[in-house]
Amino acid sequence: MEFSCALTMDFSLTLRLNDGKKPSEIANIMNAEGIRTKSRIVTTNKNEKKKVGGNRFNEDFVKKIITNPLYKGYVHFNNEEFKGIHPSIVSVQTWDKTYELLQPKHTKRLTYSKDAHVHLLKGIAKCGECGVLLTPYPGGKKDRHGNPYLYYACGKVVDSGKESSCKVRALPAREFENAIKKCLSDLGHNKAIVESAIKSTAKFTKSRIKPLEAELEKTEKRLSTFLCLKQLAKY
Ligand SMILES: [Zn+2]
Repeated sequence: MEFSCALTMDFSLTLRLNDGKKPSEIANIMNAEGIRTKSRIVTTNKNEKKKVGGNRFNEDFVKKIITNPLYKGYVHFNNEEFKGIHPSIVSVQTWDKTYELLQPKHTKRLTYSKDAHVHLLKGIAKCGECGVLLTPYPGGKKDRHGNPYLYYACGKVVDSGKESSCKVRALPAREFENAIKKCLSDLGHNKAIVESAIKSTAKFTKSRIKPLEAELEKTEKRLSTFLCLKQLAKY
């Protein structure tokens, strides 16, 4: 099912958030239920038809939907909010409460390293078998200190659950992050690798500068011709 097929889903998202679910958890639920973002057909520069959208949900997308004032019957114009003429899907009170829940809390000053729910590899690490991003996934159970067991799960496993044939499935978040940190730290001590990385970055930057310089030269020539023509047009 696509998100656009169920407008009431916005309402469902809002209720779930008010029910204590985090946007990332809501995204996981939507994905597991097989719901995808709206898709449409666009025409490319080469005049080919291409389908865009129809993607899995993520935390940011859920937040974007929930905080859209359109759903409480309002519209934005010139950075101001006005009452629209379209019917609302959620009440103003529910929308306001939901918006409040999504605002960052300033009461506690925690250092990042103490925040147990930061996932350092979110949006970076991919499943080696399926090639899809690994998603932060709370295991549900808690340890004896009351901290939840956190995992990175393969996107395909989040989507299809037991049906998925992925062998990687889920990795314990902290152990996985520590292994990657150790690996990066070891690489950082390898002089040959660091030197080679610096060299290839410099080479890459140089290769990008040349065409830009040529483009700049062309633009400057065109600009000077234009100015000359403009000057001539005056007489
Ligand atoms: Zn996988």
